[in-house]
Amino acid sequence: MIEVKNVIKRFGDFFALNGVNINVEKGSVYGLVGPNGAGKTTVIKCMAGIYRQDGGSVLIDGKPVYENAEIKSRVAYVSDDLYFFPGYSIKDSAAYYRGIYPNWSEERFEEIADVFKIDEKRAARRLSKGMQKQAAFWLGLSTQPDVMILDEPMDGLDPVMRRNVWNIMLAEVANRGMTVLVSSHNLRELEDVCDHVGIMNKGRIAIEKGLDEVKGNIHKVQTAFRDGLPDELRTSLDVLKHEKAGSVDMLIIRGDSGEITDKIRKYSPLLLDVVPLTLEEVFIYELGGMGYELEIIGQ
Ligand code: ADP
Ligand code: MG
Repeated sequence: MIEVKNVIKRFGDFFALNGVNINVEKGSVYGLVGPNGAGKTTVIKCMAGIYRQDGGSVLIDGKPVYENAEIKSRVAYVSDDLYFFPGYSIKDSAAYYRGIYPNWSEERFEEIADVFKIDEKRAARRLSKGMQKQAAFWLGLSTQPDVMILDEPMDGLDPVMRRNVWNIMLAEVANRGMTVLVSSHNLRELEDVCDHVGIMNKGRIAIEKGLDEVKGNIHKVQTAFRDGLPDELRTSLDVLKHEKAGSVDMLIIRGDSGEITDKIRKYSPLLLDVVPLTLEEVFIYELGGMGYELEIIGQ
């Protein structure tokens, strides 16, 4: 649905994007994660058709986005620096959106109003940062977009409102196959909502994965043996990390959990426990050895 192919974006002689590849399937929720300055906002502005890239291509539904009014009318973009026209109330903004977006739904606008409970007559620029975010979601969702592109959207929203917003968005994903691309500097924030995650660093995607794939394929195993971890076992497993605490071995192992436990059981362990990893841990181990794992995950 969204294809970013080898995209380059320069500011002067600085390469903010240095060959970025991103693939977002229709109906999926893709999290773009990376530290400040990684290039998230820049690539998002290319996807939203605000920047023209200097190299590569940005396609939505197979068509170039830049200067493509038809594609843009099906995309809702919530930027990190929201802009509202001076003096416009939310209602005025809604009237403006109605004129631009062919799929604008007054019914959706009224429905979502019940969630946000912001007086639509209030001037958008006078609202708090978090309320402005809510107004942007409200307007964006009312256009019934095929694609939502969100740049650090949860900044300034309280936990209850975050949940409300995600509930609405995930319902649209489930009911209409809406596609979502969302950025954050915090992987934890996206863990529960995304099905794909791309980790961005220094103008490139360092790693891109489907969550089923990552979470099912890497495990934390605690085990103990009377005479220590057998060497043959250690070499027959794909061990990413091994730590000892007293007589307990803590192993991070890549592979199918059933196969891993079957292999370990053959050596009659005194203890065998498989603990699920958080997404953050998965990426830290996957990126292990690349030297910048913690920097990438962010705080
Ligand atoms: P992120 O959103 O991941 O924090 P950005 O895409 O905003 O990162 O920025 C990526 C890099 O490009 C940063 O080093 C930033 O300083 C630089 N950059 C972004 N926009 C501009 C601009 N308009 N002019 C010059 N440099 C820019
Ligand atoms: Mg940014």
